[in-house]
Amino acid sequence: SPVIVWIRRDLRLSDHAALTAAADSGRPVIPVFVLDEVVDRLGAAAKFRFGLGVEAFGDALEGIGSRLILRRGKALECLQALVKETGAGAVYWQRAYDPDSKDRDTKVKAALKDDGLDVQSFAGHLLFEPWTVETKTGGFYKVYTPFWNAVKGTDIDAPQTAVSDLKAPSDWPDSDTLDDWQMDAAMRRGAAIVGKHVSVGEEAARGRLGAFIANGIEGYGDGRNMVAEDGCSRMSEPLTYGEISPRICWHAGMRAREEGKAGAETWLKELVWREFAYHLLHHTPHIVSDNWREEWRSFPWNEDERKSEVIAWKRGRTGVAFVDAAMREMYVTGTMHNRARMIVASYLTKHLMCHWRIGQAWFEDCLIDWDPASNALGWQWTAGSGPDATPYFRVFNPDTQAEKFDPKGQYRKAWIAEGQSNPPETATDYFAAVPESWSLDTGRDYPDPVVTLDEGRKRALDAYENRDF
Ligand code: FAD
Repeated sequence: SPVIVWIRRDLRLSDHAALTAAADSGRPVIPVFVLDEVVDRLGAAAKFRFGLGVEAFGDALEGIGSRLILRRGKALECLQALVKETGAGAVYWQRAYDPDSKDRDTKVKAALKDDGLDVQSFAGHLLFEPWTVETKTGGFYKVYTPFWNAVKGTDIDAPQTAVSDLKAPSDWPDSDTLDDWQMDAAMRRGAAIVGKHVSVGEEAARGRLGAFIANGIEGYGDGRNMVAEDGCSRMSEPLTYGEISPRICWHAGMRAREEGKAGAETWLKELVWREFAYHLLHHTPHIVSDNWREEWRSFPWNEDERKSEVIAWKRGRTGVAFVDAAMREMYVTGTMHNRARMIVASYLTKHLMCHWRIGQAWFEDCLIDWDPASNALGWQWTAGSGPDATPYFRVFNPDTQAEKFDPKGQYRKAWIAEGQSNPPETATDYFAAVPESWSLDTGRDYPDPVVTLDEGRKRALDAYENRDF
């Protein structure tokens, strides 16, 4: 009887444990992707980008004589229907670790087992299963550096080779089409504009990784902070959809380290930040929804999304050039440089004293590399409410940060059209991408700061001084 492989954030043929196990079983394999309750809830940009990934993965499967069946509805009901239609005896998938997916998967597993099926879940989205890394007393890690020290010497198995042959069933079950699904429907911003910046599929991911290892990793130590330079790997996008496995990235980084490439160790450490984020998410799922440190729940953050300062922040019109450039970069490309993420997050939570959840949700809607664990940790780290966090009183000054990490102003010029007689396409694309309801036009003057940096800083520090914890 056939094996169903439930495809989720693992749109790849290489290093795919569930697909490999199904192929090795010698039985017909039916890969299926379900637009279920978890996928349906994704932010606009992530859902749009997921759709492109699913399309590319369907093509990749067809390239090896298989198919990707598309179904929409509750995951369990879709899988049960497919089992009934195809006579499948087994369902395999790779594990997910966010609270919504875990909850769904636990229920699906129990119900399918009750139906008498062989149900197996495999590792693959992470280097380390979150529950396997333990402190000496059997607890979990709350601080990154000891986590890194605990895992850095681990021997990580080599990635599995790509699946090149999947036995087809005698009859393929029906499938929806991606056109039916319209996964770009929520894109208020011009999908075509964001689409210019995506890099979709396994081959593209390998290409990006190869180019970074050949040209970028050596200078990554400093280059990773220079916002106008191409100094980072840009692996977060394919890692999010599993178009590349973390194990492939890890081994590429290890080889670079063995070759003596300077930035390799720093880059491996960044990959482990992603692991740490999932470790925390697994052990303390409230990190996505509430202040990790309970005392921060009483901090007088603004939670009103309608406030003009919040609107200005989202729209890249705070009057602080580095912040605005970064917010526009995200709106147009679906990604934002890591240094810039820290600056805009600090500005929102400190200068504007807004709750980090407002920023977390806006990032969730705008990022094509949106990741539940890294986004939550990134926000709580910057806001000061997280387990391993910068203290609230450390307020980044966006102007000094700009002098340091965008010394020639290239990043700001790339994204802010106002004041330039001949602005680059990136900057004008922003005006093409925003919805009409924002009523922005290129001719408008650049806004004055919604709050001066000194004032904002002082307000935040006063609130911190007067906190009741
Ligand atoms: P590189 O610098 O080349 O690093 C390699 C890989 O390491 C990345 O692809 C990523 O998987 C991992 N990594 C690097 N930095 C971090 C980090 N700080 N935390 C966790 N993993 C990291 N990353 C996301 O993937 N999705 C998000 O939604 C996300 N939201 C963030 C929100 C805030 C407020 C902050 C401060 C950071 C956020 N990050 C997020 C982390 C980081 O900014 C991105 O992973 C990074 O910019 C991706 O670029 P890159 O792939 O070129 O990274």
